[in-house]
Amino acid sequence: MSDAPSEFRYKRVLLKVSGEVLMGDQTYGIDMRTVDEVAKAIASVASEGVEICLVIGGGNIFRGLSKAAADMDRAQADYMGMLATVMNALAMQAALEKIGVQTRVQSALVMNAVAEPYVRRRALRHLEKGRVVIFAAGVGAPFFTTDSGAALRAAEMGCDALLKGTSVDGVYSADPKKDASATRYETLTYQEVLAKDLKVMDASAVALMRDSDIPIVVFSIREEGAFRRVMSGEGAYTVITNTPRQA
Ligand code: UDP
Repeated sequence: MSDAPSEFRYKRVLLKVSGEVLMGDQTYGIDMRTVDEVAKAIASVASEGVEICLVIGGGNIFRGLSKAAADMDRAQADYMGMLATVMNALAMQAALEKIGVQTRVQSALVMNAVAEPYVRRRALRHLEKGRVVIFAAGVGAPFFTTDSGAALRAAEMGCDALLKGTSVDGVYSADPKKDASATRYETLTYQEVLAKDLKVMDASAVALMRDSDIPIVVFSIREEGAFRRVMSGEGAYTVITNTPRQA
């Protein structure tokens, strides 16, 4: 793979955006203004030749473990959650294409009318052609989350990093919204994340990134320009690798 373009430290990345981010200030659903902002942030990096894979969560619409699904078979509820991620993927595709970014949605659940089925080699070809590939429906199986889907696709696509865009600017020693003494980690190892049970991503996703030696970068995608800054090694974020090193 060739070097990362100019100022950026990675050539190919997977950006995971949680469904919660797409709600904006709403309590449920998709806030298209927020989706447009995230799309703009992606466009600004994609236009400079970075190859971008996207995984969008579904928690803004439906989660298999939510109260609404309490009386439902877990697998059934999880399939509903996967369908929610497809809606978010289509919203993100619309926002990206509106501003001239070429995209393809590939779904882990086959739905030919709305998305391509997931085909690894085809996805790689899209990336090479400069298209943003949005992976929908997680891993396509219940009892998983889109974090695991993000980790799996990052490994399959040979990404240089998995960037987790959330509403907090990194990983903290405690919940910064509840504990004023909470501090942000600059770096962590996968092992520390697992041993301290830090709520970064699912353990299965962290373990897969550890085994594939792909750094996880946690940052706030809600801050304007943050995706670009993080790609340049600037701004606030936490990097998780095998060996602790200064970011
Ligand atoms: N889900 C699943 N398998 C997957 C990905 C997602 O069953 O591979 C379901 C699961 O019910 C999950 C929901 O889809 O709760 C939404 O995904 P997630 O909770 O990861 O969304 P996020 O928290 O990132 O918004």
